[in-house]
Amino acid sequence: MLTLSTELQNLAALQATQDRIDEALSALDELKAEVQEHSATQAELLKKRNDVQDRFDTAQRAWQDLESGVASRKEELRQWENRMNGLSDWREQQALQAAIRDQKRQIEYGERDIREKVEQVTALEDEYNGAQEALEDVERKVADGEAAYAGQRQEIEDNLAAEYQTRDELLAACPASERRRWENFSRRSQSKVVVTAHDGVCGHCHVSLLPMDWIEVLKKEKPVSCTGCQRIIVHESFLQTETDAVPVAEASDASAEQEADQPQAEAG
Ligand SMILES: [Zn+2]
Repeated sequence: MLTLSTELQNLAALQATQDRIDEALSALDELKAEVQEHSATQAELLKKRNDVQDRFDTAQRAWQDLESGVASRKEELRQWENRMNGLSDWREQQALQAAIRDQKRQIEYGERDIREKVEQVTALEDEYNGAQEALEDVERKVADGEAAYAGQRQEIEDNLAAEYQTRDELLAACPASERRRWENFSRRSQSKVVVTAHDGVCGHCHVSLLPMDWIEVLKKEKPVSCTGCQRIIVHESFLQTETDAVPVAEASDASAEQEADQPQAEAG
């Protein structure tokens, strides 16, 4: 059977264990959310990269078509110029001259189109490189995030296994009524079951404790329930962990305050 004071320490340790579990789980959730956010960006950037690639491919095909169009016109022109040399009929010469002039104009237009298309292809190439770079950047972030998540999850799961065991042991050591209350609260919400109070006011719901209850809290001998939120109230000294332990200077202030509270409590 537990002494009352051990019961208090047990409850406080239980809450501290639960706090560490909650903290570890939420750290893991945050990491997961970060990876998911990067994955969504990755999908977006991949779509953008593929769109640019399609436009680049289309422009490049159009460029090749223009090049081969101009090349075949030039070949035709060469043949016509050769034929010119063999022509003696004046009318035929005139007609071919006109065709050659027109062909030269078409070649000029074609070469102008090619220059424009080359500019377009070059611009799309730059755009593609930019999109590809952005994609690779976020791909690295996703990979790094996943590696960090996997590593931290393993670490957190290893720690959690120990924390869960500690929690089970502490729960088993609780009196049945406290254990039931703990389990009911845990099922209903993620919030704390064991809380502290300041100056006679519940630290969770801010309802004033009954004077008798506040005295019990200050005596640090047995758990007290808040009439407002039904949570278990323990003296704050029970819930001080290594991580949030007050610095030495403040600690002496706190104990002075505590000593000031003590006679008042006994008087009341
Ligand atoms: Zn309360």
